[in-house]
Amino acid sequence: MNPVNKDALNKSISTTEDLIVHVFGGPVAGRECGECVMCCKALHIDTQELKKPPDVLCVHNTGTGCGIYETRPSVCRTWLCLWRRIETLPQHMRPDRSGLLLSAEFGHQNGDPFQKFYVIIRSIDNKSRFETDLYKNLVRMFSEHVGIPVYASLDGKKRMVHPDDRLANAIRMDINCADPSTLAKAREWRKCLQLTDV
Ligand code: SF4
Ligand code: SF4
Repeated sequence: MNPVNKDALNKSISTTEDLIVHVFGGPVAGRECGECVMCCKALHIDTQELKKPPDVLCVHNTGTGCGIYETRPSVCRTWLCLWRRIETLPQHMRPDRSGLLLSAEFGHQNGDPFQKFYVIIRSIDNKSRFETDLYKNLVRMFSEHVGIPVYASLDGKKRMVHPDDRLANAIRMDINCADPSTLAKAREWRKCLQLTDV
C-alpha cells in the first residue's frame, strides 16, 4: 500500500495538520500509543501553553503516559507520530520499540525548499539505529516518493538523506550539470516543491 498521498502536496490546504492528514492519513484505527512516551520526551515544544526542551521528558509525563491527559495542550492533542498514521508500518516500529521516531514537520524555509515540509526520522538514543534494516527500509520506503524530503536526526542535528546530494543540487538549480535522468527527476521534484521552472 502506498503510504503517501503525493497529490495532496499540490493542493491548497489551509492548516499544517490538514496537510499531514491529506498526505499521510489520520490515526490508524485500533493503533494506540500504549506505553510509548517518546514524543513527550524527544520533541522540542515551544508554544504558549507548553514549553519543553528536546530529549527531556515533559514535566507532565508520569513515565507511562500524560498526567494531564484531559487538559493537555492543543499541540499534544493534534500531534501524532507517523507510526500512528501509516498503516503499513509494523507494530515493532512503535517508537519505544524501534528507537526511531518518525514525524512530518514544517520548517522555517530560509530559502531552502527542502525545509518546507519534510519527514524526519529521529534516533531516540544513538547512531546505531541508523544502521538497522528497519531504518534502511524506512528510508527506502520514503525514497520512492518525489517531493517529500527525508532527514535523519540525532542529538538535535539533522541531515537530509532523501533526495541525495546529487539530486538535491539538481533540484536547487544546478540542473545544467545533471545527467538526463537526474534532470527529469529534478523537474518532478521542482513541480512538487512548487519551484519556478527553469
Ligand atoms: S511517539 Fe507516537 S506512539 Fe509514541 S507516544 Fe508519541 S504519538 Fe504515541
Ligand atoms: S502535556 Fe502530556 S501529552 Fe503533552 S508533552 Fe507533556 S506529557 Fe506529553
